[in-house]
Amino acid sequence: MRKIIAFLTIFIFASYAYGEFSLIKLGIDNNNTVLVTGGIQGDEPGGFMSANLLARGYEITSGSLYVVPNLNMPSIIKKSRGINGDMNRKFDTLSDKDPEKDIVEQIKSLVLQPNITMLINLHDGSGFYRPKYINKTMNPNRWGNIAIIDQATLEGVLYGNLEEIANKVVDKLNTKLLNTTHKYHLRNTHTSDGDKEMLKSLSYFAIKNGKAAYANEASKTLPVHERVYYHLIAVEEYLKIAGIEFKRKFELTPKGVKKALDEDLSMLVCGKFMFYSPKSRLGYIPLPSDAQIKLDCDNALVALTKNKNEYNIHYGNRIVTRFTPEFFEYSNLIDEIGISIDGNEPEFIKLGQKIMVKNSFKIIKKDGVRTNIIGYGTTREDESDIKMSKNMIKSRFSMDKSEQIYRVEFYEDSGLKDKFIGMILVEFAK
Ligand SMILES: [Zn+2]
Repeated sequence: MRKIIAFLTIFIFASYAYGEFSLIKLGIDNNNTVLVTGGIQGDEPGGFMSANLLARGYEITSGSLYVVPNLNMPSIIKKSRGINGDMNRKFDTLSDKDPEKDIVEQIKSLVLQPNITMLINLHDGSGFYRPKYINKTMNPNRWGNIAIIDQATLEGVLYGNLEEIANKVVDKLNTKLLNTTHKYHLRNTHTSDGDKEMLKSLSYFAIKNGKAAYANEASKTLPVHERVYYHLIAVEEYLKIAGIEFKRKFELTPKGVKKALDEDLSMLVCGKFMFYSPKSRLGYIPLPSDAQIKLDCDNALVALTKNKNEYNIHYGNRIVTRFTPEFFEYSNLIDEIGISIDGNEPEFIKLGQKIMVKNSFKIIKKDGVRTNIIGYGTTREDESDIKMSKNMIKSRFSMDKSEQIYRVEFYEDSGLKDKFIGMILVEFAK
């Protein structure tokens, strides 16, 4: 029987508080490190999904690359440009009372690290920039598909030939256009000549402090995977100019990017939890009865938030799934369990894995451990040593939309209230 402890007072915090962003370091640290950022505005998925895919889908084989995919995670979660105003206008002066003061200071000190020699900010802009008015979506007031610099050169600074470098990137992008209307342009905002808005931006903060800074904009008119396609072509060109070598784990085509993004979303691993193509609503999930819950996900765009009695799992701008928590103390009694798959000799499987099963599986009894196969049986009894086939489990308890993946949870039998040890997922072949 499933029961909820109703009377515990538990303070839960979203996985991202202010002053938190993920810094992912790739390659081997050196004094020629490129920093790529996304998500300074929460409603620009092309930028933050590109940065995230850069962090997750590339291997740096020579040189040093830092990636921050989620500069403004609270706004990403809310799909808002900025829940406390535009963060990219907070890099000149900022009141101590601003709720984003801490995070802005952290970003500034990251950019000022002596090893950072180039900053690339990724953004999504509206329409397609054209130097002369053509129509509503193509004109000088549009920001889509441009490389942006604040000035032509930054004297005496590595990669300070800003215009020359950005033009190389624009030329490269224009050899890879999916449609001629997507044509890239260079836009020099001449910020120091009095562009009041850009004076407050992160790029100009870098320029003022003697760091080469570039921004790449992809058009909000394009589907996200095409924005990511253009962003990554630009980033790769900047990396080449900075002498950083890489291997990519997917094909840099719109199709290849879409596949890589879909795969990243389909498999979220968060500590003891795994979500494989999860359904929009899952049943009860055992959460730790600690004072503070953090989902330790290996993905910077994934966060957990509380909404009344439910929890939401976010991936960027999207809510991937919702569930009801059931609170347990956690235990680390075992980290693997014996399982016989399709009648074969039992093998030890690490918790936190997914196994593939053709017809049946059987969890081997382990003393002190209670097995709970979610969707099988109704009593709170141990469900090990039972040869389990798919038709014995109620399909509405599946984790995934196609009802092939089921959850097996393990508990430490400890008198009054069991402790949650971990889970494995079982995927039945179609
Ligand atoms: Zn932007």
